[in-house]
Formats: sequence, C-alpha cells, structure tokens
Amino acid sequence: MKIAILGSGITGLSIGKLLSEDFDVEILEKSSIHGGIARTKSVNGISYHVTGGHCFNSKYPDVLDFVFQHVMHKDKWHKITRDAAIKFKGNEINYPIEFAIKQIASFDNELAINIVKDFLNANDDNSYENLEDWFRKKFGNALAEEYFIPYNQKIWNRDPKEMDPSWVKDKLPIPNVKSFFQSLIGTAKDKMPHSEFYYPNTNNQNSFIDNLAKGLNISCNIEVKSISFEDNTKKWIINDNLYYDKIINTIPINELPKLIFNCPESIIKSAAKLKYNKVSTMLWETNPTKRTWTYLPDSDTIFHRYIHIGNFFKPKINYTITEAIGEKSYEEMSENGKKDPFLVKPLDYHVSNHAYVIFDDNYKENKEIVLNYLNKISIHTIGRFGEWEYYNMDICIKSAIELKTEIFNNLYSKNEK
Ligand SMILES: Cc1cc2nc3c(=O)[nH]c(=O)nc-3n(C[C@H](O)[C@H](O)[C@H](O)COP(=O)(O)OP(=O)(O)OC[C@H]3O[C@@H](n4cnc5c(N)ncnc54)[C@H](O)[C@@H]3O)c2cc1C
Repeated sequence: MKIAILGSGITGLSIGKLLSEDFDVEILEKSSIHGGIARTKSVNGISYHVTGGHCFNSKYPDVLDFVFQHVMHKDKWHKITRDAAIKFKGNEINYPIEFAIKQIASFDNELAINIVKDFLNANDDNSYENLEDWFRKKFGNALAEEYFIPYNQKIWNRDPKEMDPSWVKDKLPIPNVKSFFQSLIGTAKDKMPHSEFYYPNTNNQNSFIDNLAKGLNISCNIEVKSISFEDNTKKWIINDNLYYDKIINTIPINELPKLIFNCPESIIKSAAKLKYNKVSTMLWETNPTKRTWTYLPDSDTIFHRYIHIGNFFKPKINYTITEAIGEKSYEEMSENGKKDPFLVKPLDYHVSNHAYVIFDDNYKENKEIVLNYLNKISIHTIGRFGEWEYYNMDICIKSAIELKTEIFNNLYSKNEK
C-alpha cells in the first residue's frame, strides 16, 4: 500500500516514522525543509525558534516511549525546570498567578485581598457561556478581570466573550481551594506537563526533528495543489501525476477542501470560516535572567510572551524570543522592544502564517463539518491544523500513534472477514 502524508511537521514526520516500516510512505512538503512550525533557524550559531520557543514533555507514557526509545534517546536531552514569570502591573511575579498572591500583596495589598475573596466566592457550576465566563467561574472576578481576560484578549486578538472555552481544559493549572491556600503559605506547585521539560543537548530542537525525519521518504518543494480520486483504479491522485492508495493529511483543514476535486461548496465554505492567528517573533540579545519564559498581559507592549531560549541551553546564554500576535513589521517589533531595557539588541525576525487556531463561537460546528466530510471520503487528518486544535508537539505525536493503531486495526479486521 502506498501512502501519501501531506505535510512534514512534527505530525507528518511522526506518522511517517510509525508507518514506514510496514508501508511505502511518501511525505509531501511544500517548503524546502521538513519540520513545520517547530523548526529552528540558526542565527549567529543560536537556534532561533521562528514560530516561538518550543519545549518538549508529555503526560502520555506512549509518547515519551516513542520519542526516547525510537527517535532520540533520553540521554541526548537535558531536563529543565520551568521558572516562568508574569510581568504584572510593572512587577515580576511567579507563574501561575493564582499561586503568586503573596507577591501581589507586596505591591497591592487590596488587590491581593480581592483576589482571595473572589476566588473563594467563585461559583463554578461547570456550565460556561464563553471563555470569559470560564475564567470568572474558575478563578473569581478579580483574577479574571486583572489578568486572564486582558491576557487572553491579547493572545487571541479577540474578546474572550466571543470565544468557546472548551479548548482551555488541560492547558492551564487550575487551583482548588487547598492548593490555593497552600500557595499562600508557600508550598503549592502546579503539576502541568510543562512544569518540567526536555531540550536537546545540542541546544537545537532541530536535532529532535532531524532524528524524526531520518530514513523517511520526504519530497520537499512539493506543494499539494490538487487531490482527486480515480474510481476505476481506486487510487488517489495528487497534483495530477502522483498516485497513492491512502492519504493522511496534516496540512491546515481550512485550506484542504478547496484542493479536493468535486468537494461540495458547502464544505469549502465551512472550511473558509475556520480562523487562525499568525505570530510574529524577534530574537534578541538580552540582559541575564533566570527565567524560562515571561508572560506580558499588560497592553503597554505588543509582545505577549518572552521565551528566554538561552536558558533552555547548556551552558545558558542571554537570548530571548519575543512573540506578538498577528503580522507585525520588523520596525514595530524592534521599536516596541526598545521600551524594555532587558532587550538589548534585535538579531532576527519572522512572521509565521498558521500559528494559533482561534476558538470562536463557530469553530466546533465548522470543524466538524470538514472533519466529517474528510472521514466520509476516507482521508485521515491529524495534527494541530489537521484537527484544528490547540495541540502541542506531544499531542500531535499521540494522534499519530492512535492513527497507526486505527490503520492496523482496520487492516486486520478486513483480513479476518
Ligand atoms: C508560538 C508557538 C509556540 C509553541 N510552543 C510549543 C512548545 O513549547 N511545546 C510544544 O510541544 N508545542 C508547542 N507548540 C505547538 C507545536 O508547534 C505544534 O503542535 C506542532 O509543531 C504542529 O505540528 P504539525 O505537524 O501538526 O503542523 P505544522 O508544523 O504546521 O506542519 C504542517 C506542514 O504542512 C506543510 N504544508 C502546508 N500546506 C501544504 C501543502 N499544500 N502542500 C504540502 N505541504 C504543506 C507545512 O509547510 C508544514 O511543514 C507551539 C506552537 C506555537 C505556534
């Protein structure tokens, strides 16, 4: 069986690696190199994550096993403990904010008291009208209004009232009353997967990506522009001249349907309604910091996050990537950076197209319409933009592992019949 995998990001490479031993697999990639949005670029010998800093960890044992046993052995990675900060009302406090109330009290005692009061009064009835409502019910009004709503307005470039809250589960540490009070006496810690993470000993994420790609049949500089199905041969035809028995998609599903011959107009319309944000980044030489990253909820800067990428390296160096939502110019990014003396010198700049799926009110409905159609015509689709979800690399790998199982189960059940 000959399989085409569309796209060679983490998802395409993972499913490629998982299937290549048993099938004839070809990965088609439009850009000149594999790796997708997780790939880095070398700038003055430093690996610059052009789509924003990436660290790896997972709560799923099968994902860790795949990566450490089959892609890059665990001794080729070093472990880093997250030390994240929030620049909150001009002060640097620890992340997550709900565990930093004592620090808030040191510069605004009244706000700290209101946060505690509102947190304890929050009425979480497990029913949420929108993302803003979710923050209010999980964290109380004061924390929602002072931090979560402005920060989310910034990173989504959209009113949290107009957003679906279902994606946020598992993305944030959620305190309960006990952990909240423990934090006030100084002992609470969140246990999110990225509170500790791995980075390659080469100080470059591309080592992981290149190991994932090793031995795979990847055809770069091939943009998938058309897909059709030939009834008499039962073959898929890509770009009029490439023939396959099966297609696995990882390219964005807002763009895929219009490439498929005879796709109904209603599906193409639903796909076109799926929205996403671009991200602009800049690599900087900086002053020293001990932090791994810093969140910036305030509206006085267009940056929403600093990734102190130099602190992912061994030995550590003073480099940071700043991220801003949308397409910003080099001048906007560098001028904005001048407001913060921590950022010393801009070194490089990049704008990524597909970066963040936007979870607006209609995303679920439109996504389901497209996924159902792809399912009906037997095109598998996985990955961050292939499933249109807020997936980190590990979840992309998890999807690939699950798809491999599904493909094998289907083959066995057909053979048994
Ligand atoms: C700012 C930011 C920070 C992140 N930080 C982390 C992190 O710290 N840890 C973590 O685990 N994850 C992180 N992620 C998520 C991670 O980047 C993704 O989960 C993962 O890289 C997605 O891989 P993918 O293969 O699904 O998609 P992509 O990487 O987008 O791959 C899709 C591929 O398809 C190709 N393609 C598109 N159209 C066509 C076409 N028509 N023909 C052929 N090829 C095509 C593209 O060129 C691309 O190579 C972050 C994401 C962002 C945006």
